[in-house]
Amino acid sequence: MGYKKPSFIEGIAEKIGIIPNLHKENYQEFDGDMRQFSDEEVAQMYENFPPPEKWDSWEEFDPKVWPRKEKKTYQIVPTTCFNCESACGLTAFIDKETQEVKKFEGNPYHPGSRGRNCAKGPATINQVTDPDRILYPLKRKGKRGDGEWERISWDEALDTISARIRKAILEERHNEIAYHVGRPGAEGFMNWILPSWGIDGHNSHTNICSSGARFGYNLWYGYDRPSPDHAEAKFILLISAHLESGHYFNPHAQRIIEGKMKGAKLATMDPRLSNTASMSDYWMPSYPGTEAAVLLAMALIILKEGLYNRDYLENWTNWQEYLKARHADKEITFENYIAAMIDEYKEFTPEFAEEESGVKAEMIREIAVKIGEAGERFASHNWRSAGASNLGGWAVARCLHFLTVLTGAVGAKGGTSPNSWNKFKPTVPNPPKPQKQWNQLHFPKEYPLAFFEMSQLLPHFLKEGRGKMDVYFSRVFNPVWTYPDGFTWMEMFMDESKFGLHAALTPTWNETAFFADFVLPMGLASERHDINSYATHGGTWIAFRQPVLREAARRNGKQVEYTYESNPGEVWEEDEFWIELSWRIDPDGSMGIKKHFESPNRPGEKITIEEYYQYVFERVKGLPETAKKEGLTEFQYMAKYGAFEIEKGESYKKNENPLSKDDLKGTEVDKKNGVIRKNGKDIGVMVNGKAVVGFPTPSRKNEFYSQTMVDWKWPEYATPTYIKSHIHNDVLDKSKGEYVLVPTFRLPTLIHSRSGNAKWLVEISNRNPIWMHPEDAAKWGFKTGDLVKMNTDIGYFIDKVWVTQSMKPGVVACSHHIGRWRREQDKTGNRWATNTVNIDNSEKGKWKMSTKSGIKPFESNDKDSKRIFWKDGGVHQNITHAVHPDPISGMHTWHQRVRIEKPGSNDSYGDIFVDTDKSHEIYKEWLAMTRPAPGPNGELRPLWFKRAFKPDESTYYLDKDKK
Ligand code: SF4
Repeated sequence: MGYKKPSFIEGIAEKIGIIPNLHKENYQEFDGDMRQFSDEEVAQMYENFPPPEKWDSWEEFDPKVWPRKEKKTYQIVPTTCFNCESACGLTAFIDKETQEVKKFEGNPYHPGSRGRNCAKGPATINQVTDPDRILYPLKRKGKRGDGEWERISWDEALDTISARIRKAILEERHNEIAYHVGRPGAEGFMNWILPSWGIDGHNSHTNICSSGARFGYNLWYGYDRPSPDHAEAKFILLISAHLESGHYFNPHAQRIIEGKMKGAKLATMDPRLSNTASMSDYWMPSYPGTEAAVLLAMALIILKEGLYNRDYLENWTNWQEYLKARHADKEITFENYIAAMIDEYKEFTPEFAEEESGVKAEMIREIAVKIGEAGERFASHNWRSAGASNLGGWAVARCLHFLTVLTGAVGAKGGTSPNSWNKFKPTVPNPPKPQKQWNQLHFPKEYPLAFFEMSQLLPHFLKEGRGKMDVYFSRVFNPVWTYPDGFTWMEMFMDESKFGLHAALTPTWNETAFFADFVLPMGLASERHDINSYATHGGTWIAFRQPVLREAARRNGKQVEYTYESNPGEVWEEDEFWIELSWRIDPDGSMGIKKHFESPNRPGEKITIEEYYQYVFERVKGLPETAKKEGLTEFQYMAKYGAFEIEKGESYKKNENPLSKDDLKGTEVDKKNGVIRKNGKDIGVMVNGKAVVGFPTPSRKNEFYSQTMVDWKWPEYATPTYIKSHIHNDVLDKSKGEYVLVPTFRLPTLIHSRSGNAKWLVEISNRNPIWMHPEDAAKWGFKTGDLVKMNTDIGYFIDKVWVTQSMKPGVVACSHHIGRWRREQDKTGNRWATNTVNIDNSEKGKWKMSTKSGIKPFESNDKDSKRIFWKDGGVHQNITHAVHPDPISGMHTWHQRVRIEKPGSNDSYGDIFVDTDKSHEIYKEWLAMTRPAPGPNGELRPLWFKRAFKPDESTYYLDKDKK
């Protein structure tokens, strides 16, 4: 980047301290001892932020009455944002007089976000004051889905649901109870609840989100997420729009920019010129699904040019195993390993990669050399995007990690660490043992390697009679809208023999809650307790999401027993709800459930929320000492500051941590590969004569060669590979108008179906047109605003065209956030964002949706609701997608083959048609691509693979007698 002189204005601003001095000696130079902001400098940046000692009584002028100068007094209480997974720090400003939350700002004491937020953080206030929010528990009247509701008490909801769960467990129908979660937002809490009930009942959204990438990373090193150390990197490669959206993006974005300010180069692979691509040094507009080919071409260059890290490859990959398995005729030498790899990838020339992807060979070459030169300081990220969109999308993360391995950047400073190295795991009181159940509705035998639950197939499993859901919780989860094939979900929800009781735990109305029996209002970011800890950089932190009015009441000397007493209406939180429900399932303790939720201090009594969190916080490394210095308990410290830094940015190379003498007692070393075993479990590996922990894989190293893939019937994928996607150019018939639709990108200001209740956010983004390059638009004769019919495998949707040079020619894209709806009979909700639609299902299996009216101004206690100027609520596209589960990772592959057409005279904007019989056929076509369990020893799944709620090992065998 080189030294840049300050401009005249910058110079003055730096001198008088308005901005930090960015032009100090050495600041802009990149060297081994890179500049960090000191604590004092960070404090100086935030000197305008109220200091914590004034948080109980902070005065500032009310900007709303300007130019009058009127002071307001606030109590400031920290919490964390719940509008994406990053859990950035927020501070709630509570009017002391009215005890109402007036606004949210950042929390400078949060080590991940450091005071900064994206637009969605402060917009939490819109969600709190949304005139359409659900304030009381509701029970349906009439038929499910008819839209009739009555207010009930929490007691009635708890008693009804707990009695049904109790009955199911006593009748050994454990697998009929499921908790299906969208955004978890908490650490470890449900791992305490569900195994305590003895059920294998966790179902997540991960297979429509990130499990593809997770699978690719896991095959390599037993960890399923990356933690790039952007601020310390020399080269950053993103396969996504991560600078503007995605997991941890605000904490990552600030560190990517820090890295760039210190000289790092940024490259982005994305067929869209996203905001991220536009901020990059290199934009690689690749054809969707070909990313792995580009990455392998880079790998080949690094290998051929000798830019690899010999030390790392030699010590930390299982190359001997690879040579033995694949090149038994060759001597086992490192040189033969390199030569074999060069031979294995010889077809992946930059020219081949260009032919596949459209990215120029010259650019691929240049970036590969830069990555090789960055060495250990190569940070990269792939999360949803390509990994979540393609048949074989998991191979993208696998090939990306290949570059990290080649450069030796795994876990290095400025490199890419496993996520779990930078994440805190809570210790809960009275922990349960793993459940002795395996639920094949979540982990069916056809998908033994699926990285998470096959949640997208649940309605198809129910449709073909594999089981039923007697008690089903949807929690911050909206499959009817967010998932592919929402009409099949709707069909199953309407059938009480498939879903016996459906309780929707949600802060706001959504398309799935319309088909529930109970709608139970759950707290927003400032109305609930959660622990957060995420891998935002090389350090580790913990943050506390808390109900701010409850905490204000505590500080003001008022005791609150249940959080709903201090929240708006009777909005509750899950923590207390689950504890209460657990007690009611097992009132006399005879089922062995209740004991897990007893107070650690008051035997036989119910644990309180403060006791639970105090128990967890007492066990956070360094927190007891820090809290003590301020004369606070650990709970009080977290309630006061909202976050604590456990480790400050030096969590590198943990695979090299030595095993202690105690660890080594009673161990044996496998002569073949140096793996150290104790009591039948692998605990480490010998590397260069030292006993170290290594990685949690069978070889305890990065697995270039995966025996697991061979054992589980996929030998062709034993090493990192490029897999041609289901939307590869070869399979599209251009003469019929077939294109690939990229339906996965996020608008940075929206959150799936959770931002329809935030007026500021919807005001910024409220349409989802089809992005189309001018060349393609000219071919079709489209101009911006024209209607276009997008035919999918199971139906179609009618959208509008946006002609833009930001799209790669030959590819079209549509954001997945817009197109929210409600029917006439539904409760009014999210009126800032929802169209009113008509749904017609007069012919069985054929579903038609049409828009009756768009978004309109409405009367409410919020004056802005009369000022709505946007009318177009966009179009719901996911509901027209068939399920396409990758046969290996289980990830839904989002990209769609679409046939583009000019709409007919009867077609209108927003029209949707879906044939659910066809969607069931497509489910079966993809199911036929699987290679089912059992694997070795009759296993249902490799024992070393993670599962979010891992059951007892005895459940892992298809034929239990064979284990
Ligand atoms: S990135 Fe934005 S939405 Fe996500 S937690 Fe941070 S402030 Fe909230």
